[in-house]
This record gives sequence, structure tokens and C-alpha cells, in this order.
Amino acid sequence: MLPVSIKVIDKEFIAIEWNDGDKSRIKLSSLRNNCPCALCAADRENRGDKYFPIFSSDELTLTGVNMIGNYAVSVTWKDGHNTGIYEFGYLKKISTS
Ligand SMILES: [Zn+2]
Repeated sequence: MLPVSIKVIDKEFIAIEWNDGDKSRIKLSSLRNNCPCALCAADRENRGDKYFPIFSSDELTLTGVNMIGNYAVSVTWKDGHNTGIYEFGYLKKISTS
């Protein structure tokens, strides 16, 4: 399973097309909120699951998406955060469709 294309739509979603014909859509706020890096994971742990973060527009603007081998993508946000590495299965899990 590999992404064929990853596009940002209306500055709100990313749309991923997979090589098996499947499509995934993920809200940028959900992508950011589910950032798998150690820093964000620790942050979520501390806040508990009843906390809904408010992100700035820079924190929700993607400036880059890079393939990591053939199992994940790393994303760069406009506020400089770039340590999140999203495995493909994880992207599918947090997608809304
Ligand atoms: Zn993070």
C-alpha cells in the first residue's frame, strides 16, 4: 500500500490516493492533533482526552510532505514542526473516509 498522490484541499483536508484505488481524507486539524512524534504524544498524554487544542493557522498549514522509505510520510508545518512521521496504516486509521 503506497500513496499515489497527496493533495491539500481547501486548506482544510489532505486527500490521499492509494495505489490500491482507496482514497483517504484527513482534516489538517486532525492530522496535527494526531501527530505521532514523541513531543506531541507526551503533550496529549499530559492533557488527557478531554482537551481540544486550538491551533493557529501556521500550525495548520502544511508546507511539505516527504516520503520516508515505503512505509511513512513526514510532514512539515508552517510553524516549523516537522518531527511527525505518519505510517501509512496510521494515516488510514485517522482518516475520515
Ligand atoms: Zn508532533
